[in-house]
Amino acid sequence: MDTSAQYAIEQDQNDELASFRERFYFPQFEGRDVLYFCGNSLGLQPKTVEAALLRELEHWKQHGVEGHFRGDMPWMHYHKFLQPGLAEILGAYIDEVVPMNTLTVNLHLLMVSFYRPGRHRYKILMEAGAFSSDQYAVESQVRYHGFQPEEAIIEIAPREGEHTLRTEDILTAIAEHGPEIALILFSGVQYYTGQYFDIAAITRAGHQAGAVVGFDLAHAAGNVPLHLHDWGADFATWCSYKYLNSGPGGPAGIFVHERWAYDHTLPRFAGWWGHDETQRFRMEKGFIPMPGAAGWQLSNAQIFSFAAHKAALDIFQEVGMPALRRKSQALTTYLEYLLGILNQQGLPLQIITPGAPAQRGCQLSVVAGPEGRSLFDFLTAHGVVCDWREPDVIRLAPVPLYNRFQDVHALYQLLQKWLTT
Ligand SMILES: *Cc1c(COP(=O)(O)O)cnc(C)c1O
Repeated sequence: MDTSAQYAIEQDQNDELASFRERFYFPQFEGRDVLYFCGNSLGLQPKTVEAALLRELEHWKQHGVEGHFRGDMPWMHYHKFLQPGLAEILGAYIDEVVPMNTLTVNLHLLMVSFYRPGRHRYKILMEAGAFSSDQYAVESQVRYHGFQPEEAIIEIAPREGEHTLRTEDILTAIAEHGPEIALILFSGVQYYTGQYFDIAAITRAGHQAGAVVGFDLAHAAGNVPLHLHDWGADFATWCSYKYLNSGPGGPAGIFVHERWAYDHTLPRFAGWWGHDETQRFRMEKGFIPMPGAAGWQLSNAQIFSFAAHKAALDIFQEVGMPALRRKSQALTTYLEYLLGILNQQGLPLQIITPGAPAQRGCQLSVVAGPEGRSLFDFLTAHGVVCDWREPDVIRLAPVPLYNRFQDVHALYQLLQKWLTT
């Protein structure tokens, strides 16, 4: 790697995914595309979304209620058209995943089924500094079961002076608290630090300890390769508006491992869309869950947001996660390299995301020093979209689906300008 513009141009020329950039709309800044490094927060709009939405509007216009049964994508079965794409991204069997609701809603629904505290085994173990919504969900769930959060939630924090968790420390904590842990709920990729946790190892240790193990994959889905079935996680949920580009407020999804597919003893909050579809319209008493993740659905599909979600998923199916991961690692390593050079030149940026490519996705979180906020404002004023997280972190996510090496280089040049002015 080197710092020349020529290097970035060559990398883009050799990039097998380069053409996918054209599939997305970029917000404009002074007559050019912004430098968009915020796909970890809201992914860009695929150009195919508009047609997908118009198609459903037209279907509704032409068929009214019959739209549920007509055409090649009848609304009645709409969630099924998204399952194959999701299964690939999550590394799951088709029946193990389903799109539904939104992320925090799903966290609650899944905890209804999978957080079943007993008198001695009642704690939830999670990473310290989890996304606020997850903390609120967990707090309110333990209270709902009559426990106090201070007593029932175990948070694992990085060691003194470190920013991310060591896998060994996570596993030790699981072993230490083993008999008390009812549920382990971890991020796949941590939203603040960008750390990609070892889902397989955490799951194994959790199961050995007798706990149920679930994951919030908000920052992992579409960002890193996942093999949830093989890794054996009990459940997971994610949102689709970040790396999966489904648009603001887009649908979330759930994964429920096959081992639970036919377990009708699990408590769950039920609705008609989770009911055995062969009998759904009999409208009779007595809930019979669909096998697999579909049995957790409550309501009929939100067609417009599912349509946008599917349009974006189709792009992922074309690309495939292995190719996406290859580019992602190259692009993020390049950003890391350029930030390192700037650091040597006196820019006080400290990357807190793990340096090992296997332990991160595309996002790098950077502690930006005392002048961090004005640096962030400078970037914003020069057409960079990234985000600021209190107290002093800038998150930069070069997304392999639509970011170029030249985008990263342009950011480097701006940071140099900041240094020298
Ligand atoms: C983005 C994100 C959320 C957002 O929750 P919504 O229910 O979709 O609003 C929750 N948890 C994590 C870890 C996230 O990254």
